[in-house]
Amino acid sequence: MLFGPRLFQPDSEILSTLFSPSLPGFPATTVRCMICGASADGSPSVSQCAACGGLLDVAFAFDQPLARGDFSALPLATQVNSGVWRYRQLLPWFPTDQIVTRAEGFTPIYWDDRLAHFGGVGRLGLKHEGQNPTGSFKDRGMTVGVTHAKSVGATMVACASTGNTSASLASYAAAAGMSALVLIPEGKIAGGKLAQTIAHGAHIVQVEGDFDIALRMLRELTAGYPVYLVNSVNPYRVEGQKTIVIEMFEQLDWQVPDVIALPGGNLGNTAAFGKALIDLQMAGLIDRIPRLLTIQAEGASPFVDYFESGFDRYEPVTAETVATAIKIGNPASVERARRAIQFSSGMVARVTDAEIMEAKAMIDRCGIGCEPASAATLAGIRKQVALRQIGPDAHVVGVLTGHLLKDTEAVVRFHLEDAPGERSPLVNRPVSIPADMDALKRTLSNALQG
Ligand SMILES: [Zn+2]
Repeated sequence: MLFGPRLFQPDSEILSTLFSPSLPGFPATTVRCMICGASADGSPSVSQCAACGGLLDVAFAFDQPLARGDFSALPLATQVNSGVWRYRQLLPWFPTDQIVTRAEGFTPIYWDDRLAHFGGVGRLGLKHEGQNPTGSFKDRGMTVGVTHAKSVGATMVACASTGNTSASLASYAAAAGMSALVLIPEGKIAGGKLAQTIAHGAHIVQVEGDFDIALRMLRELTAGYPVYLVNSVNPYRVEGQKTIVIEMFEQLDWQVPDVIALPGGNLGNTAAFGKALIDLQMAGLIDRIPRLLTIQAEGASPFVDYFESGFDRYEPVTAETVATAIKIGNPASVERARRAIQFSSGMVARVTDAEIMEAKAMIDRCGIGCEPASAATLAGIRKQVALRQIGPDAHVVGVLTGHLLKDTEAVVRFHLEDAPGERSPLVNRPVSIPADMDALKRTLSNALQG
């Protein structure tokens, strides 16, 4: 027997507050289609417009501009210790007791002259979203997505994932006492991510196919069952991911950088960053828009092709790259991402796997560390500077999306397994010695000389 999505059991009192906040100073919100504008308020099925199939947006009605100090001045009753919910005036409204949080956000921006020099720019900050609770930026979207799922009465949440989303969803579902269903491409996600998902108790289905197939199957499935889809097409997740940019600007004392660089796979983050800029401008919080730079891996770069055609021709590809988090050939958020690039007069570029791994080794060597996809950010900045698309005096902030421990296999491959003839000067290979003091002393002498 098939169940319709309306078989969620929402608490009507909670539902009635979702779009009209009960506290002053918070904008009213509506959910509507970004293509045809149709309203989707009140529908628990939030992956696409019922009328035209377009992606949905949470739209805000600011009746007065927000002030930059508003975020630290929230009334006590609305406070949640989270770097996402800190910006509640720019998020869809939920009653405080419905919020599912793991104290996400509050991630640092690292400034390292060696990395600025490597990238070729005067001033480079790297905002490390890998320092979220489950080690990736996904937690910011997940806290809002799972909160919405809980509010509409869902008991099972689901996603298709290249790994980080599944780890995050499994964690937040467990925190909320909900069950999670995760579809992953078999044998194609990094070990750290799979381990997290298993450990947090999600139902894991490995699909013999790639991410794009898994997502298509899941979308078809959730249309017929009372299962809440928390993929990046979910507009509530986009809202949470928006806070990366808001928090970044607050950390920069609202000195908006010239360029914000980020990796692009499914393009949910590019979409969310664009939405952040649109909303921040509408709220009167910024008057200058930074250029977004989205970087894809060469073997998974359909958005680069789309950009280079003047956003005229879009064609999915079969994806292949060492950076599994962005190994996506048919990005679900492609049209939202197009809007983001156009709104910010942005850029889209591709880098090779070798360039990604060299940039990663550099970030790792500076003591910061990240997973391969994150390093596309630095590799892409370097490439755009070389191509004179970014000036050497530009103020650039890049986003690192995942923690180094997410993909230790990539570290092992780069440092221990690559052919000696192709070795990078950054390769760091452990040495083995007999249990013998003389051997140890020789090793130390070599290290002191080297
Ligand atoms: Zn529509």
